[in-house]
Amino acid sequence: MEYVILAVVIAVIAVAAISGFVVTSRKKKQLPTAPPSSPSVTAPPAEPHVGEEAETPREEPRRTIEEVDLPGSGAPAATAEAPAPAVPEVPPVEVPEPTAGRLVRLRARLSRSQTTLGKGLLTLLSREHLDDDTWEEIEDTLLTADVGVTPTQELVERLRERVKVLGTRTPDELRGLLREELLHLIGTSADRTVHTESGVGVNGEEKPGVVMVVGVNGTGKTTTTGKLARVLVADGKSVVLGAADTFRAAAADQLQTWGERVGARTVRGPEGGDPASVAFDAVKEGIAETADVVLIDTAGRLHTKTGLMDELGKVKRVVEKHGEVDEVLLVLDATTGQNGLVQARVFAEVVDITGIVLTKLDGTAKGGIVIAVQRELSVPVKLVGLGEGSDDLAPFEPEAFVDALIGD
Ligand code: GDP
Repeated sequence: MEYVILAVVIAVIAVAAISGFVVTSRKKKQLPTAPPSSPSVTAPPAEPHVGEEAETPREEPRRTIEEVDLPGSGAPAATAEAPAPAVPEVPPVEVPEPTAGRLVRLRARLSRSQTTLGKGLLTLLSREHLDDDTWEEIEDTLLTADVGVTPTQELVERLRERVKVLGTRTPDELRGLLREELLHLIGTSADRTVHTESGVGVNGEEKPGVVMVVGVNGTGKTTTTGKLARVLVADGKSVVLGAADTFRAAAADQLQTWGERVGARTVRGPEGGDPASVAFDAVKEGIAETADVVLIDTAGRLHTKTGLMDELGKVKRVVEKHGEVDEVLLVLDATTGQNGLVQARVFAEVVDITGIVLTKLDGTAKGGIVIAVQRELSVPVKLVGLGEGSDDLAPFEPEAFVDALIGD
């Protein structure tokens, strides 16, 4: 009997010990996941799981990841806002600056440079003795500024003659004389209007003014097309853009962005598609929309001249199925000097250029390329690019340009 009682007591003790072990080991397993009693401020808070908030109510307001993570940020908690829901942004349509007087900016930009063509010439002409060496230096200055051989010789000849007649030379007289002679070379009577007037299409319908923009890639063709769209919109015209540079998707995107900013629609085709068909569609769209102007940005790959000829020639011919092309603007980078002239010659063989756009004039103090390229093509410079800003395109005005070169 005693044995039975002893056995029962041992059994009870054994059961109690076993159940106690299990509970203890359970508690041990739970420990690592138990919430900390006081959360550290520097550590990012763990993402709460569903229901956790109810079990461990927070006394402090929750801190966002940004607040905790930003080293040294003293941003008060009150400024932290929940991120706005992603709503597709509709960019507001911009109102471009008026175009009048934009060329004055060139003066401000060139006045920072001490090496402009005009300033160099004035310094040389102010020397007490204008001997042969000085005249040679004047000639070199003109050639270095990309004026070109023939115009340089003409200018030096005329200056020599007039300085002789002048006798004594005051700085004002010299400035006046140089101004007149540079203006004579650039020409003040050429028609520098960019023709964008609407006309009559082949079927007797109203046709928008059609402008083709051509030039080597990198000269600023797409940028110029975009800036020109802004100028036209600022003048109250409705514009359709044709992204006929189908070889670079980025070019079409770039043009479309320019268009969206001023509210001009962009007609584009599939990447690698036929540029002529995009140009054709753009004009068709312009006619359908009764737009005022259609601007066509073309591709400017110069690796094979024949390829370029075929391509550009075709674009123009196909567009002409709708009616006349009113302007073919050749975009040249003013900083490339003689290289620009070579490009100009090639393009002039391919299409009839009606106007020149000299871009990046802000990047050169030379400016003589204006004279050289007009001589080369017998076509006037109509627009100049003065920077990367969206309103940095100015109508070319010979007087303002020469004044910028010579300075005050
Ligand atoms: P595209 O390949 O001929 O179409 O050339 P883009 O329009 O893409 O322009 C090439 C680069 O030249 C871009 O970085 C433009 O911002 C820049 N650019 C265009 N015009 C001017 C200008 O008048 N001045 C300056 N400084 N940069 C310009």
